[in-house]
Amino acid sequence: MLNLSIPEHIAPLRNKVLNFVEQEVYPVEEQLQSDKVGSRRGEILRGLMDKAKTQGLWAMGHPEEIGGGGLPFMDYVFVNEVVGRSDIATVALGTHSLQDSIMLHRYASDEWRDKYLKPLVDGEVFPSFGMTEPDVASSDPTQLQTRAVLEGDEWVINGRKWFTSGAGTAAYTTCMVRTEDDETPAHAAFSMIVVPTDTAGYNILRDVKVMGQAEGHYEVEYDNVRVPKDNLLGPRGQGFKIAQDRLGPGRIFHCMRWLGQAQRAFDLMCNRANNRVAFGKNLGEHQQIQKFIFDSAAEIQASRLLTLHAAQKIDEGGEAREEIGLIKVYGAKMLHNVIDRAIQVHGALGVTEDTPLERMYRHARFARIYDGADEVHVQTTARRILRRYANGEGYDFGLR
Ligand SMILES: Cc1cc2nc3c(=O)[nH]c(=O)nc-3n(C[C@H](O)[C@H](O)[C@H](O)COP(=O)(O)OP(=O)(O)OC[C@H]3O[C@@H](n4cnc5c(N)ncnc54)[C@H](O)[C@@H]3O)c2cc1C
Repeated sequence: MLNLSIPEHIAPLRNKVLNFVEQEVYPVEEQLQSDKVGSRRGEILRGLMDKAKTQGLWAMGHPEEIGGGGLPFMDYVFVNEVVGRSDIATVALGTHSLQDSIMLHRYASDEWRDKYLKPLVDGEVFPSFGMTEPDVASSDPTQLQTRAVLEGDEWVINGRKWFTSGAGTAAYTTCMVRTEDDETPAHAAFSMIVVPTDTAGYNILRDVKVMGQAEGHYEVEYDNVRVPKDNLLGPRGQGFKIAQDRLGPGRIFHCMRWLGQAQRAFDLMCNRANNRVAFGKNLGEHQQIQKFIFDSAAEIQASRLLTLHAAQKIDEGGEAREEIGLIKVYGAKMLHNVIDRAIQVHGALGVTEDTPLERMYRHARFARIYDGADEVHVQTTARRILRRYANGEGYDFGLR
């Protein structure tokens, strides 16, 4: 049966994480966003990471065998909801590397596992992932143009990627490239190759500004980049499968974090509505503002139900493909709507940097694009449902 409330055994840890986020992370958020912080950014982040480690809150969801806290999946889902209150908390608490460390653990050769896995989980090095390219619609990665050719014992890589988030500070990029010839069917033609960012020919061209801010989404040229043959992750031609494995359960964590962001925006909106007076009464006494509160509460609750339902299906061993498609699209839209309304209730203050809302709003806008643009999820989810009808199976919500 779907359990929506926080399980009793996880409540103390979840509260501890929430306290950490509110007491330690919120106070430095503004400073970390500011251009003036410069080289102190790393020092401040490091300080938070050390505190999280001392308090036993570091990398809680990473499997124990790779040095993480080994929290069971569903417990970690509930913890992620409060980690999500601040985007900085994912790094401060070491959850940011979960997908990449699991990918390395599953697919890397011993050499790369030894070199990167422990430092990655410990937060000593950062990963990055390079799939998207500026010149082709990377919603459709069968079109990717970056190629790797095996010459002797080395892969030689040429091409251009962008939106390789974190490349500027990462130790390596896992790069999705075409390794097979044009005759090979696209879904067996791409592979994942680990490229250390200090390799000759790995040229960072720019930190692409997003909505006016440089936030570390880099454009990178691969100019005759040479890496050893063993830098291949998993079998040759399995890039699509590995990419899918990397993203699947990760989307649940994204959605729980989005719920954390929505909760924060909702708290800010309700408090403002109860305290700001216009035309002789609190904003919250005006019907239109009440509608904002009502719609937001309904969308947050619906999104939470959808997400926990999908999480539970995965926990029971299912793939939950349709459910994940539904939450990715619904969750991103919910997040966008709730923050938008919270900004509106704050008036001009809402678009300043004096509240976290403007930053949250920018990030919410990105959520409808990254991890697969919404339209791609709509298409694949609808097709899967229609296929079930075509097979005579149907889609009985009571049985999902
Ligand atoms: C903040 C941020 C961080 C990112 N980080 C990374 C990263 O670390 N590594 C990485 O590799 N990439 C990253 N990306 C890139 C992201 O994965 C791509 O932007 C996304 O896959 C879409 O590709 P595209 O931008 O080329 O858009 P396109 O593929 O050109 O699509 C543009 C638009 O076309 C429409 N569209 C596409 N397909 C369909 C369809 N089937 N039906 C109807 N409409 C459709 C959608 O509206 C879509 O938004 C990041 C993006 C953002 C915004």
